Amino acid sequence: MLFSRYPRVRLAHLPTPLEPLERLSARLGGPRLLVKRDDCTGLATGGNKTRKLEFLVGEALAQGADTLITVGAVQSNHVRQTAAAAARCGLHCEVLLERRVPDTPADYERTGNVQLDRLCGAVVHFRDGGVDMLAEAEELAGRLAAQGRRPYVIPGGGSNPVGALGYALAAFEIVGQLAEREIVVDRIVHATGSTGTQAGLLAGLHAMNVRIPVLGICVSRPEAQQVPLVHDLAQRTADLLGATTPVPREVVTVDDRFVGPGYGRTTPATVEALRLAAREEGLLLDPVYSGKAMAGLISLIREGAIPAGETVLFVHTGGAAALPAYLEELDA
Ligand SMILES: *Cc1c(COP(=O)(O)O)cnc(C)c1O
Repeated sequence: MLFSRYPRVRLAHLPTPLEPLERLSARLGGPRLLVKRDDCTGLATGGNKTRKLEFLVGEALAQGADTLITVGAVQSNHVRQTAAAAARCGLHCEVLLERRVPDTPADYERTGNVQLDRLCGAVVHFRDGGVDMLAEAEELAGRLAAQGRRPYVIPGGGSNPVGALGYALAAFEIVGQLAEREIVVDRIVHATGSTGTQAGLLAGLHAMNVRIPVLGICVSRPEAQQVPLVHDLAQRTADLLGATTPVPREVVTVDDRFVGPGYGRTTPATVEALRLAAREEGLLLDPVYSGKAMAGLISLIREGAIPAGETVLFVHTGGAAALPAYLEELDA
């Protein structure tokens, strides 16, 4: 396989289930909806970062690292999965959390993912919003190295070509599951943030020469910024897989209309999507990523941009571990 030349540690429960969302589809009077349950990857409540960490921690161990360092927003799911991966592999973990979301409630820096980071043994550091987090991580790595440690720095969201390999492999898993069940999917929809998920999926589909449109619902940046970032990472990931043709720019499609007031801040449509998914399907989304992606999907169905005759695969990227930090917005 294309992937076997890259070191990988098994951290995720794979394959994740692919399930129908019959009640939600009926409720929306819309397309047939399926969900890829990447919230069920299993590592300390799971989520999409676990697939990336299989390759990132694989590389860290191959390089002889004894410490993982990573960065994220305060309620980062990536940081929590990194802390758990480090614990699983007997590595130290230090994490830098950026105060990126304004006006947060009192418990925001203790509950949800932060509680789980600490429970998994990570050393937690906070930084002000807007600082160069990767530079901060490199600086910390330098200090730890001077003390004789062997740190490995993972970028925000695990989104570099090595991490995105996890989602290229997920594309193979998805295409395999669909083929096995003889399901034809018209499009894949998911939340896009640090870009590794979408870039990896596109690189994997490109490697298989499978043309399923992938729509990223933005959770932070505007389209004009997100598209080139996704495209660049998709190309670099495809290069790792030995692609002989370029990833076309047109395959990168995102919709930035559902970000609302900004990253990590809820919108009424997100709260509605969270409630619908929970009440129709018992499916827990989150206010920062998967709930915004579902709000986008619902809106596209209601405006007719996604016709009722289609079959849509929603990739549930996880995030419910952050729910306690959003108690006020969701109290109902
Ligand atoms: C990180 C994250 C995403 C976004 O994935 P990227 O690879 O960063 O674009 C989506 N959903 C959840 C729950 C996440 O934690």
